[in-house]
Amino acid sequence: RVAPIDIGGLAPGMGNYYLLSFRDVSELRSIDRMRSDFVANASHELRTPLASLKGFIETIQGPARDDPKAQERFLGIMLDQATRMSRLVDDLLSLSRLELKSHIAPDQTVDLKPLIIHVSDALLPLAEELGVEIRLHLPEGRVDVLGDRDELIEVIENLIENACKYGQEGKFVDVFLKGGGRLPVEVNVIDKGPGIPAEHVPRLTERFYRVSVADSRSKKGTGLGLAIVKHILTRHRARLLVKSELGKGTEFTVRF
Ligand code: ADP
Repeated sequence: RVAPIDIGGLAPGMGNYYLLSFRDVSELRSIDRMRSDFVANASHELRTPLASLKGFIETIQGPARDDPKAQERFLGIMLDQATRMSRLVDDLLSLSRLELKSHIAPDQTVDLKPLIIHVSDALLPLAEELGVEIRLHLPEGRVDVLGDRDELIEVIENLIENACKYGQEGKFVDVFLKGGGRLPVEVNVIDKGPGIPAEHVPRLTERFYRVSVADSRSKKGTGLGLAIVKHILTRHRARLLVKSELGKGTEFTVRF
């Protein structure tokens, strides 16, 4: 409550009312810090493959100039690095687009059943390459939610792709779709991989967070996937739940 203070002026005797607005500067500072951390991380992630590309170009121009075999091998690595960079830029663009529309609630009626089938078909080549079988457990009828189709595809794709990549040893990835009508709609993506140590679970949706250095070396990824998933689900007023047991596997649940 702001008490009116009479400073004379426009309406003598009646007092003038000031509109005071308060800003919590500490929150703004912490957003500023997060933003600059993010720019630093993004720059670092882009600089690494760029430095490697530069190195290989110099080698091909110099010491490997007359060695077509080495050149071919280096070109393969360069293509991988360029692919990694474009994946990173795509993810960064996705994140910033999502931030721009975070206040708008999505309003398409989306049947999750064909969407899950579509995503799992698209991931078949990756699953085959990793030796994983994706098993779908879908109900009879439609399972509608209010949402944005493309964004929901991105969520399900990220979760199933992660289950295939990180749960590869478990051989099977199970996807369940449940609920609808009066029950909450849920999608569960379950792998039988090594699991995630409990102390990492709360940080999984942070940008660029990856559980182990080994993961970041051996598995293709940007560390932005679950950050994007979280943004999309927040916009959908849906939740992401994680259950993981070491040596047994991991279950990610999206609950609408
Ligand atoms: P990315 O896969 O690009 O590294 P994500 O944001 O999708 O990034 O995932 C962050 C990290 O969480 C991964 O690097 C991995 O360490 C861990 N992770 C995600 N899903 C699983 C899973 N199903 N099993 C084990 N670890 C996982």
